[in-house]
Amino acid sequence: MKINPLLDIVYPQSFLGEDEMANEQTLSIIKPDAVFTNHIGEILIRFEKSGLKIVAAKMVHFSQEQARAFYSVHAHRPFFQELVSFMISGPVLALVLEGENAVAKNRQLMGATNPKDANPGTIRADFAKTIEKNAIHGSDSLETAAKEIRFFFKAQEIFSR
Ligand code: GDP
Repeated sequence: MKINPLLDIVYPQSFLGEDEMANEQTLSIIKPDAVFTNHIGEILIRFEKSGLKIVAAKMVHFSQEQARAFYSVHAHRPFFQELVSFMISGPVLALVLEGENAVAKNRQLMGATNPKDANPGTIRADFAKTIEKNAIHGSDSLETAAKEIRFFFKAQEIFSR
């Protein structure tokens, strides 16, 4: 058995060989706009086709307090209240994605924050409408990923494989 120190998760030996680096885990959120436009399935297919594995999933409807806590790093930004209002406007699907370089790979699949700047073929280019209603959230570092995963999931709700 090996332990991922960031997540306090015990991986079975079959997942991590003795000399193998730990695969990364990252948090993804399919935001209310993409849930509302019925694009959950198409987005999940992109993760799986890229080789990432969905190892946890949960649909939640943020309370105002939860949304403010999740985005607390942006509390000083002028768009903070708008962002919170958007994130509580409907349910979201929170996911843990696992695989090699999962954090960077997920950010690549997502595309730039503003869909106008997002590369063709990225999730935001294809499903997002505005810089705010931009379809998807993804952790921006391994450290953030650990915190964000904990925000939604208990260790026993994550099925690493
Ligand atoms: P991300 O990591 O690409 O999601 O971007 P950020 O961490 O910079 O911003 C977090 C979220 O805040 C974005 O995904 C958008 O939903 C929202 N956001 C970012 N910039 C703006 C902005 O200028 N105006 C508004 N209304 N929302 C923004």
